[in-house]
Amino acid sequence: MKLLTPALLVSLATGFAGFANAAEAPEAARRIAQDVVIVDTHIDAPGELLDHWNDLGLPTPTRQFDYPRARAGGLDVAFMSIYTSADEDERGEAWQIAQTQIDAVEAMVARHPDKFALLRSPKDVQELQRGNKVLLALGMENGGPIGDDLSKVAAFHARGVRYITLAHGRNNRISDSATDSAPRWNGLSPFGREVVKEMNRVGIMVDVSHLSEAAIRQAAELSSVPVIASHSALRHFTPGFQRNISDENVKVIAAKGGVIQVPFGSIFIDAQAANAYANVLREREAYRVAKLAAEVAGKPFTAPEPNSPVAPPTSINQVFDNVDRIVQLAGVDHVGIGSDFDGVNGELAAELQSVADYPQFVAGLQQRGYKDADIRKILGGNLLRVWTEVENAAKR
Ligand SMILES: [Zn+2]
Repeated sequence: MKLLTPALLVSLATGFAGFANAAEAPEAARRIAQDVVIVDTHIDAPGELLDHWNDLGLPTPTRQFDYPRARAGGLDVAFMSIYTSADEDERGEAWQIAQTQIDAVEAMVARHPDKFALLRSPKDVQELQRGNKVLLALGMENGGPIGDDLSKVAAFHARGVRYITLAHGRNNRISDSATDSAPRWNGLSPFGREVVKEMNRVGIMVDVSHLSEAAIRQAAELSSVPVIASHSALRHFTPGFQRNISDENVKVIAAKGGVIQVPFGSIFIDAQAANAYANVLREREAYRVAKLAAEVAGKPFTAPEPNSPVAPPTSINQVFDNVDRIVQLAGVDHVGIGSDFDGVNGELAAELQSVADYPQFVAGLQQRGYKDADIRKILGGNLLRVWTEVENAAKR
């Protein structure tokens, strides 16, 4: 008998009821989660390692990613997010922080060579996985660490970075952000256009999550290979939340052969949570500007920093609504998973609380009528197809 939490009641009212934990998912769902290659393109473990170190090879219940739960959930390829903020970029710290986060991932692999391996190419998945390893790939969230030096793109490729999210919360040297107060470049900057071409040349996927409407379109048009959205849901379900992707841009990304990786965080999948978060972003921006003005004027600044809102309970069905709509708009070849585990303060769909929970995701897809071959694509096949295309084009 499972407890009927508010979130589960919501689920019962709207579709898939989920299970008290992933181990209770039907055998068929658990088997698919174990057998199929699951790729999650957005897990924020490295930044967390720097702030609150843990040995993620061992059970770490305070976090959403660790080795034992990754294996229990059937996770095969975990993109570790090498994340730097707009503030860190503006303070000139982004390059240093990115390198240190990559070091932290390498140290995790070196500490547990029996549990983890670094994945640099999609063709190595089968070989490296032997012995039940979880493969760690690197995705750099924010192009800030590139600075204004194009040669750093190849340098990050040499360190293993296989996608770069061109910008984050604010406009940067490369691109406009979805969440800045006004556009600076009306899309990509001239330098940003060079960065995209260089990423194509060396074989780094272009990630358009966090970008403005125009920047997404321009990046997809300019790139000679498919682009990805590593963790973005649909604005259709969160009207006014610019961080999510418009139906129009879903079609733009798909027409190019790309893939939209759906996140599990409440702020992405729920209109009320997205609204509250967008308000906090605006308050934080006003706070930042006021604080800066006070510093420049040499005046004391005592205003309290805006608090994060508490998200309402959300359900796995809201994640599936995003999957269904992307399939309707663009087809099943253009959707995948980018959970944002360890990146959203624990505010996630009720049934998707950690990397142990992919069997719930599989069970829900089955209940919505997805066939095994399609589930395989959604879980990781689509992303591996794009990555392979990007790598092959770079070799030519
Ligand atoms: Zn993000």
